[in-house]
Amino acid sequence: MIQLIRGFKDILPGEVEIWQNIEKTARSLFEDFGFKEIRLPILERTELFARSIGEDTDIVEKEMYTFPDKKGDLITLRPEATASVVRSYIQHKMYAKDPVQKFYSIGPMFRRERPQKGRYRQFYQINAEVFGIDSPFIDAQLIFLAVKLFSMLEVTDAKPHINSLGCPKCRLNFKESLSIFLSSVTEKLCRDCLRRSKKNPLRVLDCKSSSCREAIIDAPAIIDYLCPECSQHFETVKYALEKFKIPFVIDKHLVRGLDYYTRTTFEIQTGLLGAQNAVAGGGRYDGLVKALGGPDQPATGFAIGLDRLAEITGLRNKDLLQKPDIYIAALGEKSRPLAFEWSCNFGLEGIRPEMDLSNRSLKSQMKRADRLKASYVLIVGDNELEEGSVILRNMTTKKQISIPIESLVEKVKAEIRL
Ligand code: AMP
Repeated sequence: MIQLIRGFKDILPGEVEIWQNIEKTARSLFEDFGFKEIRLPILERTELFARSIGEDTDIVEKEMYTFPDKKGDLITLRPEATASVVRSYIQHKMYAKDPVQKFYSIGPMFRRERPQKGRYRQFYQINAEVFGIDSPFIDAQLIFLAVKLFSMLEVTDAKPHINSLGCPKCRLNFKESLSIFLSSVTEKLCRDCLRRSKKNPLRVLDCKSSSCREAIIDAPAIIDYLCPECSQHFETVKYALEKFKIPFVIDKHLVRGLDYYTRTTFEIQTGLLGAQNAVAGGGRYDGLVKALGGPDQPATGFAIGLDRLAEITGLRNKDLLQKPDIYIAALGEKSRPLAFEWSCNFGLEGIRPEMDLSNRSLKSQMKRADRLKASYVLIVGDNELEEGSVILRNMTTKKQISIPIESLVEKVKAEIRL
């Protein structure tokens, strides 16, 4: 038997309804706040991710699915959405019409990480990106939106952890202090971090290895190195979150696994997930549009991990599986063409049909209707047809009534919508 690839998964009926509900809720929330949906390719040129996410990150160094296409051009299955949205914003000159653009998107991402609970090689994200606004209030609004979405999905313990990574100016001084600090703990650093501590020391703060995590406990914090503008920006984000009554935690070592972040960075964590406790992450990336060849426009955004959200949403406790409204138990040869015709017409009327043409006994058909939790059963036998009426059974009250065959769909509709 051919099995699926390690780290990939099927989302089956029974589970998929939870995903659909999350997606529906996210769409309506984002659209209410003026975000437009954007759908972008899953494959992009490798260079796009290498240049935006950063050559020294785990994603680019180790985790991308990169292949040469037939012509030898390197292409990559997108490991995240922001780079593609920025590419699209620049390529279609969206800024020329209005620099302020707000997008959301939902779709799969690919990273060749070590598979474990909450960590997959194909996973799904809900992304929101805002271009053209440098005000800290929009950062706070994005955090507010993520928290709001979680509460709408009955995830009540989601808590933002926030930090500021400053601008390239503040980072210069910080990098120097961090490098000096890291040179005092080299024996605790993993091989990758030893190399990174010289080239891109910020990446060490983001390493998942336990000895590196321990090594950086007393590392200097970038919020102590912010320039007056970046400091003011961070203060305003905190003020706005307090105003929205969103509790938050300041996490001075939160740097996120991508190089493009500036100023506000955040992660939303929950206690419900075990080790993989981050259900969303994001922040500001003011230099990225320019770095990828566009105008100097600020930008900010976040990504929610849909797989993890689906695992913890309160919707999980609700029975969301679609059930038939009407189960047509067709008994006998003559009843089949009618059952077929009625089931098509029920479907067109928005009454979800299930048609049983198995020729099994009425008893076994009723058992199946029960198992599928059908609301009504229509019993159509050759005898009933001769009499010109069929039986409609309400599966909750067990009450049965006779319905004339003439304009049956209309009559059933009136009966079950009473
Ligand atoms: P990132 O794009 O790394 O900022 O991640 C944003 C969110 O996507 C995280 O908080 C997770 O919820 C989710 N996520 C990232 N990587 C994975 C993965 N390999 N499997 C499942 N979810 C993931």
